[in-house]
Amino acid sequence: MARVEIRNVGKIFGNYKAVDDVSLTIEDGEFVVLLGPSGCGKSTLLRMVAGLELPTFGDIVIGETVATRLRPKDRNIAMVFQNYALYPHLTLYENIAFPLRVAGRRGDEVDKKVRWAAGLVGIEHLLARKPRQTSGGERQRTALARSLVRDPALFLLDEPLSNLDAKLRHSARDELRTFQERVGMTALYVTHDQVEAMGLGDRVVVMQGGRVRQVGTPEEIYLYP
Ligand code: ADP
Ligand code: ADP
Repeated sequence: MARVEIRNVGKIFGNYKAVDDVSLTIEDGEFVVLLGPSGCGKSTLLRMVAGLELPTFGDIVIGETVATRLRPKDRNIAMVFQNYALYPHLTLYENIAFPLRVAGRRGDEVDKKVRWAAGLVGIEHLLARKPRQTSGGERQRTALARSLVRDPALFLLDEPLSNLDAKLRHSARDELRTFQERVGMTALYVTHDQVEAMGLGDRVVVMQGGRVRQVGTPEEIYLYP
């Protein structure tokens, strides 16, 4: 697992400051939630940590290394998006196995890993199905399992529950919390949902207009009406 340090990072698109001088440390094993309204710069910050976007200024340090020198595929990061991006023609098993196959892992190792990850998210009994034969929540768990098999040092989650209906979102949030306690994931989790942020975060970072407005435990955060 890894510690992440975001040092005075900014991103300017044209002459618009999407992210403005953000500093933030995510400790090893800590689950940090970025909370803020649409357009406040959350995804841009997440994408810079992932290496999908270059900071205009500032540094991001992952473990011991300044991340600007790390290619995305060398960052050992798992990203989970709101649209799960599962391959429709592959079974859940093959979807989860995919990153391992790409990495050239042996069949028995792949099998062990896939079953371990599927067990953690409770979908062992569904592995032979195609995504269209499963519910939204099961697809979301499959995407999480797929992100787990590579033992990522860091999880980046961008509104992963926002496509689920209210009831499913509630149970998925509880599952994620339980799972997080079991695995001890280091994570940066983006949401505009206050309830989600307060329920999931070890710490919550409130962003507004590209800047950090508050940082604290859920108990410490004051939410403006
Ligand atoms: P959030 O995730 O909080 O909704 P984003 O990080 O996606 O916010 O976007 C922050 C701001 O930066 C928005 O005003 C958005 O329109 C702008 N933005 C994001 N990506 C780009 C881009 N590639 N080019 C220009 N503007 C962008
Ligand atoms: P949700 O209301 O959460 O979207 P669904 O009603 O789609 O759930 O599915 C309920 C259960 O039925 C799930 O466990 C799902 O895996 C199973 N299921 C849904 N569609 C199929 C299918 N075509 N073949 C087999 N099982 C299915």
